[in-house]
Amino acid sequence: MKNLFLIFLEGVFTNLKRIIFATDRVTDMELRNMILEGRVTPTEKVAKVPCIGCGGCSNACPTQAIEMVALDEPVELMEGLTKTQLPVLHSKKCVNCYYCHDFCPLYALFGEAGTIHPNDVGEVELDVSQLLEKPVKISEDKIAFISQYLADNTIIRKRRNEEN
Ligand code: SF4
Ligand code: SF4
Repeated sequence: MKNLFLIFLEGVFTNLKRIIFATDRVTDMELRNMILEGRVTPTEKVAKVPCIGCGGCSNACPTQAIEMVALDEPVELMEGLTKTQLPVLHSKKCVNCYYCHDFCPLYALFGEAGTIHPNDVGEVELDVSQLLEKPVKISEDKIAFISQYLADNTIIRKRRNEEN
């Protein structure tokens, strides 16, 4: 126990020396300055505009790290499909498995960047209404597998209705 405490103190001391005095430094200078000036902000995990709010990421997450939060005002994405919620990713529960990204239908069905990412979702520029009208790029088997995870499979159901 005493040893653990000493290791902890050594870790704190070494990192403070690195950040404040720039000694024995592996931290990027710009990042160091941002830390000292309080300019570091958490990266965005969800691209809120193109996300369709289907809840698939939340269903696929093995650690319940993604909470779906209701929107104040629903957004109609296309006829028969309205966005009513958005995901919030709680990083402390995340194990970086990337299931959320990989099961996001925008990626899994249409091959575009997913609108959620455990580190940084980056800039996702998608015209979702147009995208949802495009043909799905994968097999029926894969659609069936992915659809198990989608809370709202309206997109798939709508497409099937149109095809029949
Ligand atoms: S990457 Fe994190 S948030 Fe995403 S599914 Fe895995 S554990 Fe959940
Ligand atoms: S799976 Fe993708 S589109 Fe669906 S709520 Fe999650 S981030 Fe948004």
